[in-house]
Amino acid sequence: MSEEKSLNFIEEIVEADLASGKYQTILTRFPPEPNGYLHIGHAKSICLNFGLGLKYGGKTNLRFDDTNPTKEEVEYVDSIKEDVQWLGFSWANELYASDYFEQLYLFAVDLIKKELAYVDDLSAEEIATLKGTPTVSGMDSPHRTRTVEENLQLFADMRAGKYTDGEKVLRAKIDMSASNMHMRDPLLYRIKHAHHHRTGDAWCIYPMYDFAHGQSDSIENITHSICTLEFIPHRELYDWLIEKLDIFPSKQYEFARLNMTYTVMSKRKLLQLVTEGHVQGWDDPRMPTISGMRRRGFTAESIRSFCDKIGVAKRENMIDFSLLEFCLREDLNKSALRVMGVLDPVKLIITNYPEGQTEELVSENGPDEAYGTRIVPFSNTLWVERDDFMEVAAKKWFRLAPGATVRLKSAYIVRCDGFTKDADGIVNEIHCSYLPETKSGHDTSGMSVKGTIHWVSVEHALPAEVRLYERLFKAENPSTEEGDFKEYINEDSLTIIPNARVERSLARATIESRYQFLRKGYFCLDKESTPEKMVFNRTVTLKDAWSKTANKA
Ligand code: ATP
Ligand code: MG
Repeated sequence: MSEEKSLNFIEEIVEADLASGKYQTILTRFPPEPNGYLHIGHAKSICLNFGLGLKYGGKTNLRFDDTNPTKEEVEYVDSIKEDVQWLGFSWANELYASDYFEQLYLFAVDLIKKELAYVDDLSAEEIATLKGTPTVSGMDSPHRTRTVEENLQLFADMRAGKYTDGEKVLRAKIDMSASNMHMRDPLLYRIKHAHHHRTGDAWCIYPMYDFAHGQSDSIENITHSICTLEFIPHRELYDWLIEKLDIFPSKQYEFARLNMTYTVMSKRKLLQLVTEGHVQGWDDPRMPTISGMRRRGFTAESIRSFCDKIGVAKRENMIDFSLLEFCLREDLNKSALRVMGVLDPVKLIITNYPEGQTEELVSENGPDEAYGTRIVPFSNTLWVERDDFMEVAAKKWFRLAPGATVRLKSAYIVRCDGFTKDADGIVNEIHCSYLPETKSGHDTSGMSVKGTIHWVSVEHALPAEVRLYERLFKAENPSTEEGDFKEYINEDSLTIIPNARVERSLARATIESRYQFLRKGYFCLDKESTPEKMVFNRTVTLKDAWSKTANKA
């Protein structure tokens, strides 16, 4: 974190609170609902919450906001923990709102006793109708005047399972003409006979978001409860409940959620992509999920750096997907090992190089010496990229064409003498002669050529499947386009290259390693890879094909 960077508005609040002695230390929390996998938007919240804890010597809890039994699963809990850890953060405590169900129940009883909550028998529709509109005052429910005793009994009966789903609710008794609609006797509890992933069948009443979130914050002594802007109207209720219950005064602060071009970021929509088979799963490399991005080859460092760059603001905006890719390239350029792989192979035969001879050439692993070197075997028959050859050289063509010279990376300069075609008229062999005195690192020829191309030796190459990815959506903002967001799915977002050839050293590739295939982009091994059949994902191209300058070139 650079020193000169100015504070964001939440850091300013935290510094003021520490300076005034309001708090000795801060405690934040990241509160996911375990109803889906985390996405890049959550990463922003994670970096913010855990970042504050780290920066100010405080702590951060991971709290599962698991108050909605029907949509939540253990699978999601596990994936969330994995993702937060992978991003590089550790939580002080792993907590579950469901662990507070008994305490929350007692809080509700306390409100009833204070005549600040009542059991209502109205249906959801009736409640909505009586609620009024922002310009028309609501009307009291006929059950609003129930006595404390009656409410206590009915609430106990709700808990005991005497009623069916929706038959009764517990509401706060605030003000049916409040200008903030959230203050018009909001629901605190609903009946739901459903199995919960942690509490099983112990409960058939579940607290609403507004009666779980702030109370959980208080129970944990959270000092700064940070959420996204849509919760601004909830803040009044957040404060009201804490005040009336007379519990730890956690405070809610809202920041703008991350929105990004060419993707969707609501778990509901991501779930649809998964269940309807538009992608192969939550961790499909095209998904904006942390697990998808990890599988695609994103580094945690690049995601943290992205979150740092976009900053924390109070106003919504749309971040260009290219910025994330910029951060990714910036990190991979530093960290990825350089290797050679040919995606669309055609044979190049060096006619004056001894048949059957192999040379172990030395090639650099990275952008500087610190990365070391590796051995790359060279022979008279190589695979090169089909599009590095032209039958007739175009103007300013510096690669292979009859008569042209080009350097084979880390090897020799070769001159192209000719080529052959198969029965279908497809070029199947490029014939060259090499210049022995031009060996890389030992070149005594004084020759210089404008083009350098990558290659792999046919005898030593390993076959691999390579998967190339494009953006998952064709529209910049699929969620705001007309019609369903799925109409804007890019059908060409995945290209499978079944028969690429990669250099021998990649036999040792691991899932965690990141590679730059020279001139072709950044790649990583996919989880479906096996020793028999290697599979690589292209994480990102070397250059941004989407930026305006790149399009002109
Ligand atoms: P979604 O709308 O994608 O379903 P959510 O807000 O319902 O997300 P939660 O599990 O409740 O998901 O989110 C956990 C935390 O992450 C919350 O504090 C939430 O505000 C934050 N968060 C979710 N989406 C974003 C986003 N796009 N940008 C920043 N923070 C986000
Ligand atoms: Mg939510």
